[in-house]
Amino acid sequence: MLVKDSKLLLNTNVTILRGVGSVYNKALSEAGILTIKDLLWSLPYKYIDHGNLQTIRQLYSTTSKENNTVMVFGTIKNIKQNITNIKHISLVEATIDDGTGMLRLIWFNQPYLVKFLRVGYQLLAFGHIYYGHNGLEIRSPQFEVINNKSNLVNRYLPLYKKIGPISSYIRQRLVKEAFLLITEYDDWLPIDLVRNLPDVMTALYFLHQPPNNSDPIALQNCTTLAHQRLCCEELFAFSLGIALRRSANSNLSGKRIFPTVTLSNRLKKFLPFRLTSAQRLAFKDIVKDVTSGRVMHRLLQGDVGSGKTLVAFLAMAMIAESDGQAALLVPTEILASQHTNTIKKLAIDCGANIQCLVGSMKQSEKQLALSRIKSGEARYIIGTHALFQEAVRFNNLQLIVVDEQHRFGVKQREAIKQKGLNPHWLVMSATPIPRSLALTIFGDLDQSILDELPPGRQPISTRLIHPDESYQIWKLIDCELKLGHQVFVISPAIDTSNVKVRDIKTMELFLRKRFPNQTIATIHGRLKDNEIAYNMKLFADGKAKILLATTVVEVGINIPNATVMVVDNAERFGLSQLHQLRGRIGRGSTHSYFIMLSKSETERLIIMTQTCDGFHIAQKDLELRGPGEFFGIKQSGLPQFQVADLLRDKKILHKCRQAANQMVEIGLSDAQLQWLKHEKFINIS
Ligand code: ADP
Ligand code: MG
Repeated sequence: MLVKDSKLLLNTNVTILRGVGSVYNKALSEAGILTIKDLLWSLPYKYIDHGNLQTIRQLYSTTSKENNTVMVFGTIKNIKQNITNIKHISLVEATIDDGTGMLRLIWFNQPYLVKFLRVGYQLLAFGHIYYGHNGLEIRSPQFEVINNKSNLVNRYLPLYKKIGPISSYIRQRLVKEAFLLITEYDDWLPIDLVRNLPDVMTALYFLHQPPNNSDPIALQNCTTLAHQRLCCEELFAFSLGIALRRSANSNLSGKRIFPTVTLSNRLKKFLPFRLTSAQRLAFKDIVKDVTSGRVMHRLLQGDVGSGKTLVAFLAMAMIAESDGQAALLVPTEILASQHTNTIKKLAIDCGANIQCLVGSMKQSEKQLALSRIKSGEARYIIGTHALFQEAVRFNNLQLIVVDEQHRFGVKQREAIKQKGLNPHWLVMSATPIPRSLALTIFGDLDQSILDELPPGRQPISTRLIHPDESYQIWKLIDCELKLGHQVFVISPAIDTSNVKVRDIKTMELFLRKRFPNQTIATIHGRLKDNEIAYNMKLFADGKAKILLATTVVEVGINIPNATVMVVDNAERFGLSQLHQLRGRIGRGSTHSYFIMLSKSETERLIIMTQTCDGFHIAQKDLELRGPGEFFGIKQSGLPQFQVADLLRDKKILHKCRQAANQMVEIGLSDAQLQWLKHEKFINIS
């Protein structure tokens, strides 16, 4: 253990450190660094291995390319400050000599360096090499003052991300000081989990200044024992949160539905087709939950088009037919009206019990909707965020189905709780989630998976086409339109002032010219909701044959007559997003075409042409983009880990999950309870 004396606590504010006044404090806190602990947990993003030291003569003799990164060690021969003529920038220039030659170092806008660095200091300097007016120079080098070359004990120089005015060098100094000030850290993890790993303080110390014999590869790949120890810390906390929530969930008692023959016959009458066996199993899971007397918390996962809506509807019908209210929450108004129509078709003779509630309703409509919800007349309630508003009073809300999970978050769940309600929850994921991650992130939910598509689906031909060849596509569209089919064209951007891609306006002009006799509906996020709804309806009713849209159509829309989708600049979309989009076609009984227009043949786009298996695509997407992007960090409720990476650290995560579940079962230790209290631990999702 490195720090023995009892000094400051880790949660001491960083202002305790020398030099951290209001300016630094502001910069640090904007970067999320408030306490010493935060500071220490923000690890270097990279280590410079001094093993790569070069002599100045070597720099001159090798025809080293401009902009190469180099490292030299020499004595400061002179140092001065200049102000540039033109922009009046402060320049600090130093010349160092290492016995083999001289080299200039230049820093911009860091005038204090002229006081800090003195002639005679020995400097280890690292940075990009340039050919200046007077020969080679390093501009804005990172450096370390070293008294004596034999003192060049630290093989690794840590580099930190610059935070406002706080350079890597200053961070290094702050970290060093912090280590001198703080006390030990209370270990709170189950011993079995961290056996053979260093304790937290040792791990932190190691990672801020790796010993010379550390493995450079493990350091760079974040796989040292020290990294593993810190990962355990983060992933155990995360897993514990989920395990606690799961256990809290499983203790809630909820409305119990009593299954009867009448109910079951009634539901059967609603069914337009035979359920797939996956749907049947999922529905069985739901029945088991809502008849158990406990509150259901279930994730319904399935590939695009696997028929999640029908399962959700059956769950709603079970409640509604037992005199409860069931609400379906969807992310957009388009989906709200679509689902309302679907439910109207399914729930024959229940028209009077079905109510849609969205933000754009006229005041009078809204009043009516609210009163129908309050009186309990409305039993199937479909809506957007509007459902969370203060004004909404439910009569007997027993089930909430959340469509497309990751767009709904903590706040909405809280809002429901605030209303004093304790309904069953059925959460449907928009895209398939790789199993390992689903277990982790939705570990507080029970899971049902639809791994089967309804029968009779036509395969979708997927092609990657270079824009120069796009005339083929427009010809194909001519044919499809003649057959009475409809076409989606997806554009990546509303406004392309920042990026060089064709924007939706340009595409619209092109389409109007190329298909002069067709009605084209356009929807994108800058239109008002009612405009979107209107244009969408034109397409849904078959009045518009071509729908030009941004990804607002991404989720859930069902237009069986659409047989072609063209995605412009397909490289700008994520894999899961493309898969979602592709799921919008091939829903009828005719052959469909999914065309990606792109100049680049990336791995991602090629995968799309090779498989239609959403779970496979999701796994690839996750590997290529990482979990943060995959879920969309902000909406997912996924914490941003400092050290851990859900993919890289899968094994550790697995162990942490097991350990956390076990701890919750046998009861937390005092240290753990202390920790939870201390961290003001709140639920993550
Ligand atoms: P998703 O899982 O993507 O939300 P949907 O619920 O929108 O899929 O269903 C896709 C299509 O499949 C819909 O047109 C729906 O009517 C149809 N469908 C659902 N279940 C079945 C089934 N058991 N047999 C035939 N068609 C079905
Ligand atoms: Mg859906």
